[in-house]
Amino acid sequence: MTVNLLDFDQTKLAEFFLGLGEKPFRAKQLMRWMHHFGVNDFEQMTDIARPLREKLADLCKIRPPEVRDEQISEDGTRKWLIDVGAGNGVETVFIPEDERGTLCVSSQVGCALECTFCSTGRQGFNRNLSVSEIIGQLWLANKSLGRDPKGDRVLSNVVMMGMGEPLANFDNLVTALNIMLDDSAYGLSRRRVTVSTSGLVPAMDRLRDACPVALAVSLHAPNDALRDVIVPINKKYPLSELMAACRRYLEKAPRDFVTFEYVMLDGVNDGVEHARQLLQLVKDVPCKFNLIPFNPFPNSGYQTSKPESIRRFRDVLMQAGYVVTTRKTRGEDIDAACGQLAGRVLDKTRRVHKLVMAAAA
Ligand code: SAH
Ligand code: SF4
Repeated sequence: MTVNLLDFDQTKLAEFFLGLGEKPFRAKQLMRWMHHFGVNDFEQMTDIARPLREKLADLCKIRPPEVRDEQISEDGTRKWLIDVGAGNGVETVFIPEDERGTLCVSSQVGCALECTFCSTGRQGFNRNLSVSEIIGQLWLANKSLGRDPKGDRVLSNVVMMGMGEPLANFDNLVTALNIMLDDSAYGLSRRRVTVSTSGLVPAMDRLRDACPVALAVSLHAPNDALRDVIVPINKKYPLSELMAACRRYLEKAPRDFVTFEYVMLDGVNDGVEHARQLLQLVKDVPCKFNLIPFNPFPNSGYQTSKPESIRRFRDVLMQAGYVVTTRKTRGEDIDAACGQLAGRVLDKTRRVHKLVMAAAA
């Protein structure tokens, strides 16, 4: 099988060149061509001697995944449906704002964690994305978005908040993060890259040691009884353990706070009493809150909180001195909002996973 060079970070690429009897510094050149300039044709790599270009063209390829569809919302949000083979697709969303442009990247085809309010979770799990499929989402988006009039890249931030649980695809995630941070590739600072997790505690510790980028944690409930129901992985890693992992993460994080995401579900988790419990829960964890109005999808069984409930909830947190943002819904007309990314998942392992969760309960 031909090697896809988009699967390698610079360290792995240097090893690959060594294996070919070439100098490891070639890795840096290649990273620049592939990721900085977005070139996938060896012939265009003019500072690499022709014999080596030919050798590379024989042995390997630079192959991003294929885009099946691109949609652009009235508000400028864009969504790409990316073909990941075998009839499956994942989605990537670009959200333009005044000061930044954020790409919301997927990490898995579906998700095994079955949070009850999430359309990805409802579809079950098919497989992990490869490194080239994860980093390929940046590659494709950059190609499509280009640079602004000042010559800066339009894409300035990445959030691992698309389909899938990034920490359940740990090794590929970390390799992809290395490429995002590499100055020869995308050169993003650790603060501009956020991993969002539903709370896989051991993997949070591993991320802290391997590649501490900004961390967002999908909390969604202030007590174990409620969280067990809406974020079932809580049965395995309950809130006390999750809070301790957040504190440990902050020892190395690029920001001095964790962002807690909290989806606002009408009549479920959005009462003032929930907000007060939340304050107790997080009292030892420096944090900010991001309230996400629930984005409905067919047969979800949930409704979006009323604006006044969100306001009251927010006020309790703000009065206690916390920074609270309420996420604006973007790209609604193209179903690009949080939790609406459906892609196309041919479910393989839902039943297996149910057994695992039952055993863990
Ligand atoms: N698996 C990771 C990252 C992907 S989900 C995680 O759970 O953190 C990104 C965010 O969107 C999470 O906070 C998730 O809980 C939230 N989300 C999922 N479904 C949603 C929905 N229908 N409406 C609003 N937010 C949702
Ligand atoms: Fe998976 Fe995140 Fe959706 Fe939960 S919210 S099912 S962890 S993608």
